Amino acid sequence: MTTALFYEKPKVGGDILTWCTRCKMDLAHVVIAMLGSAPARVQCKTCRSEHSYRKPKGITSPRPKTERKPSQKITMRSADIWEEKLAGRHKEEVVNYSVKDTYKPGQLVQHVQFGLGIVEELKAGNKLTILFKLGERLLIHGLK
Ligand SMILES: [Zn+2]
Repeated sequence: MTTALFYEKPKVGGDILTWCTRCKMDLAHVVIAMLGSAPARVQCKTCRSEHSYRKPKGITSPRPKTERKPSQKITMRSADIWEEKLAGRHKEEVVNYSVKDTYKPGQLVQHVQFGLGIVEELKAGNKLTILFKLGERLLIHGLK
């Protein structure tokens, strides 16, 4: 039962999944003419246009494949930088992150939520940026 067919064998008046020349994607069509055992003319159920049968192209969405997962790319990159910066550092340097402590750039901290991070930059208003494997986070430190 691995190949479940969505559509029956082509027959006039039956449904078939095929490439619609107008919608520019694979859509359900009604077979309106047969040529031997193959469909010859079909009508698109979506745009109602009639055209000759074309094999499905395997494209069911008009969305181009190029613009995909940009967030993952950024995560990958920051993870690379993170790894690079951690190289050669020692476990003994890691301190548990606490908002009550103060930190300086380059320090290694262990954050309960984000994991191991490297202090990057101190900002005004008791803020600092820390690079974690999942990316940079703006956190607070030095709270009295
Ligand atoms: Zn169509």
